[in-house]
Amino acid sequence: MSNAAAKSKYIQGSTGPWEIVIGLEVHAQVLSKAKLFSAAATQFGADPNSQVSFVDAAMPGMLPVINRFCVEQAVKTGLGLKAKINLFSIFDRKNYFYPDLPQGYQISQFKHPIVGEGVVLIDLPDGGTAKVGIERLHLEQDAGKSIHDQHPDFSFVDLNRSGVALMEIVSKPDMRSSDEAIAYVKKLRAILRYLSTCDGNMEEGSLRADVNVSVRKPGGPLGTRCEIKNVNSIRFIGQAIDYEARRQVDIIEAGGSIDQETRLFDSKNVETRSMRSKEEAHDYRYFPDPDLLPLEFEQAFVDKIAASLPELPDEKRERLVALGLPVYDATVLVGEKEIADYFEAMLAAGAEPKAAANWLNNEYLGRLNKAGIDIAAGPVPAASNAAIVCLVADGTINGKTAKDVLDIVWAEGGDPKRIVDARGLKQVTDTSAIETAVDAVIAANPDKVAAAKAKPQMIGWFVGQVMKATGGKANPTAVNALLKARLGITE
Ligand code: ADP
Ligand code: MG
Repeated sequence: MSNAAAKSKYIQGSTGPWEIVIGLEVHAQVLSKAKLFSAAATQFGADPNSQVSFVDAAMPGMLPVINRFCVEQAVKTGLGLKAKINLFSIFDRKNYFYPDLPQGYQISQFKHPIVGEGVVLIDLPDGGTAKVGIERLHLEQDAGKSIHDQHPDFSFVDLNRSGVALMEIVSKPDMRSSDEAIAYVKKLRAILRYLSTCDGNMEEGSLRADVNVSVRKPGGPLGTRCEIKNVNSIRFIGQAIDYEARRQVDIIEAGGSIDQETRLFDSKNVETRSMRSKEEAHDYRYFPDPDLLPLEFEQAFVDKIAASLPELPDEKRERLVALGLPVYDATVLVGEKEIADYFEAMLAAGAEPKAAANWLNNEYLGRLNKAGIDIAAGPVPAASNAAIVCLVADGTINGKTAKDVLDIVWAEGGDPKRIVDARGLKQVTDTSAIETAVDAVIAANPDKVAAAKAKPQMIGWFVGQVMKATGGKANPTAVNALLKARLGITE
């Protein structure tokens, strides 16, 4: 990265530039049908308290039983984060009182997490990449949900989420701007979705982040951080960081100092507000949960999971670049699992990689963006877009007709090849037909012909006229060649 780009990340204060330092604690809900220590279901949107076992409700005498699949999911995620898998880990009780926490403690992992240090490669908006270190990943239970807006006098508690498995993924304080933090969350989300270990759905709360922010003079010692709790959209993460960094700079420059505290993000007013200071911080009295044995497994268990890992975004990008795609195009294609899957389906249907990538990025994704539709819900199947790309590649239609065919399939559905046949959209390659059109246009515009001889770029106007005369179906290469010959343009 150039110095100039690095500098532009600094925020300017009255005493000079300041550097933002960010570390994220991401809570990712494990994709699993059952909870971490009970067999109750985890379906989103179920009726309140319809998915609660005696274990989740902490009835006396109930004992937790570890869900092997959730452990596999955590190991799989650790491997996807290129992290150290710990063959020995311990579940601890984190004690606190809250109405939606019937046990009076959360089972989590403290000193000995299941996954240790790893690394995530992030893709920055300027085309560069950066590395963000992973500190650890541990397994823990989610709490229930208190509901305060249903009754004037009462609060309700929904325990459906109580006991659902979460992976807490803690980054090192390696990010230096809201852009980098956003790129990190996007990449982490993509990796989780490729692995099928978390659905990454932020609206449903399957992925949420605690955002730690501090500021310092560039290259100086780390400043005191504030932790913004439970931010649940990528846009809010960026807004919270920018607001919080500016707030801290203003306080320090006014002669004050930053108190380490927990804050919340108010998305309506786009600001962070204090929740509790360090003095009010909980003493969780962590201790190993006596109901659970330490979690121990063999290297062979890890190796088996490693052998089953799917291709991840970075590796997929490498493969696509090897197929001849520009790095930028490949990055866009692998950035979201649905887009990557769609692209792969186009290749499987016979489209050539470079043409398919151009078509998908420039035409189809553009239309989807404009219409505000996700690719998974888009109206054109991958096989149809592949068919259009193939029709261009074998010369059946030209690029302009291809766009028209896409519009037709988008609006009406149908098979591109049949649409081309039925509506007579085949490209005119027959030179005599094109010649006739070229000659007619030249004969009708003697003044333009004279102008084009002096200014060869004028040929574009003639190409347009001939295309119009042929209903947009002429082969543009043939039109260009003929026009050049007739107008006496040599280069
Ligand atoms: P806890 O929040 O439980 O005290 P840690 O000390 O492990 O936990 O830090 C939590 C998060 O805060 C990590 O993601 C870490 O990268 C980040 N962090 C630590 N120090 C700073 C700092 N000075 N500025 C910004 N983020 C920091
Ligand atoms: Mg924390």
